Amino acid sequence: MISVQSKEFLETKIDEHIIPSEKVAHVQMGNNLEHALLLLTKSGYSAVPVLDPQYKLHGLLNSALITESILGLEKIEYEKLENKRVEDVMMTDFPRIRLGENFKKAMDLLVDNNFLCVEDKDGVFEGIFTRRTMLKQLRGYVNRLNHL
Ligand code: AMP
Repeated sequence: MISVQSKEFLETKIDEHIIPSEKVAHVQMGNNLEHALLLLTKSGYSAVPVLDPQYKLHGLLNSALITESILGLEKIEYEKLENKRVEDVMMTDFPRIRLGENFKKAMDLLVDNNFLCVEDKDGVFEGIFTRRTMLKQLRGYVNRLNHL
């Protein structure tokens, strides 16, 4: 049977634990792939969200998608980077979660994803919720249980 403590933990809202949008590196619709690849490389992040000027969330972009799109028959055609846009290669089917959702829902999605994009009811990007954050919260919870 599920304990009161674990129910409380799983029902914790993600809202207080997200990395807010202003701290999340992102690219904008219309940016070219050269800019996106530079940002991904310099930041060291595996993937970044694609937003419009109103901060609506449109996609997710990683380096593999960029490289794949400029793969020629025998070589990587770097000169193509300048003329391609992020919206041509971004994924549009990716894990999203609404503000107000709880740890249980986030944990299920984080099994297969390193981080989740968080949006409000209008699709405006609010930030990200990472697997690292979830694991830290879980560690804190387990430690507290052991001291009860
Ligand atoms: P971490 O939890 O730091 O290991 O981050 C996992 C993944 O979440 C990174 O590889 C990025 O794709 C994404 N991420 C974490 N922090 C940021 C950030 N400040 N800006 C953009 N993406 C981030």
